[in-house]
This record gives sequence, structure tokens and C-alpha cells, in this order.
Amino acid sequence: MSQRIRIATTSLAGCFGCHMSFLDIDERLIELSEKIEFDRTPLTDIKTLGHCDIGLIEGGMGNTENYELLREFREKCDILVSMGACAINGGIPAMRNSFTLKECLETAYVEGVGVTDPQIPGDPEIPLLLNKIHPLHEVVKIDYFLPGCPPPAEMFWTFLDQLLNGQPIEFTYSQIHYD
Ligand code: SF4
Repeated sequence: MSQRIRIATTSLAGCFGCHMSFLDIDERLIELSEKIEFDRTPLTDIKTLGHCDIGLIEGGMGNTENYELLREFREKCDILVSMGACAINGGIPAMRNSFTLKECLETAYVEGVGVTDPQIPGDPEIPLLLNKIHPLHEVVKIDYFLPGCPPPAEMFWTFLDQLLNGQPIEFTYSQIHYD
């Protein structure tokens, strides 16, 4: 039976930059792969989420699908991590919180440059946008926060290395930034 730590990741209202920074640990991914295995993540083709030791989430919560996935991650992951500015405080996408949802939709789909058939998409297949972008901790309990836009690769490495070795999580000053 595998003893490896099972990790799931996802991107809600994120840009995938946090995932890219995670991959920036480069060849250490090989070392890591001996200790962890991935469940549902954009890096695998697994469609359903199983029980995991760790869930890493980038992006804030901006639509109904984000909400459902966030709740499911909390339910199935023993440790849930907000990675990046978007997950922690809404990030750049939360700039839309200064406007009404109607204003945002009309700007994009009605008044946008090059729009020839103005209409706001209403297909039921499309998740409904929420009025605001929310940080994840407003909705579920978050166990750890990894700041940065994105968090640096060294922070991901330090975090997982210490967590897998049962050590307290401590970052160096240079690893912590919010930009
Ligand atoms: S924190 Fe930055 S890098 Fe990460 S998802 Fe948000 S915008 Fe992208």
C-alpha cells in the first residue's frame, strides 16, 4: 500500500500562476514524487476528488462552481492551504468588487471593444458569477496561508518539506512577500 502523502490542487478565480510557481521547484519535483502522489489537480487527469492529506487552492471564490469545489476540498482534505494573494485576500480579481456585477458584465459583453452581438451569457452550463470575489477563509477554515503573487517556489518547497517531516512551518524573511 502506498505510504505517500496524497495532494490535491485546484485553481478557482486564479490565473494558474501559483501552480506554475509550484512547478518552479524544478528537478526537486522528482525527489518530491517519491514522497507524494497527486489526486485531482490540473496536473493530472483525475476528474473526481478523493480523500487527501493536503489540498492546495489558488484563486479566490468568484462563482458558484468555485463555491462548491471549495466546500468539497474542505470536506476531503485534512489540511487546506490558501496559496497566493487571490486565495488569501481575493487578489487582483477582487478589484471588480468596486463595481456592481451588472457593471462588470455590461463592460465586458455589451460595451466591450469589438463586441458585435451584445448579450450577457445566460446558458445554464455557465456557473453564475457571485456579486463579489471572496477570499477562501470567508467560506471555509484554512489551515495555512502561503502569501505572494505567486508564492515563490522556495516557499512551496520549504512548506512541503517541513510538513512532510513533521516540523513546524517556518519561512525565511526572503521567502515571504506579497507581490
Ligand atoms: S496569486 Fe497571483 S499568481 Fe496566484 S493565482 Fe492569483 S494572480 Fe495568479
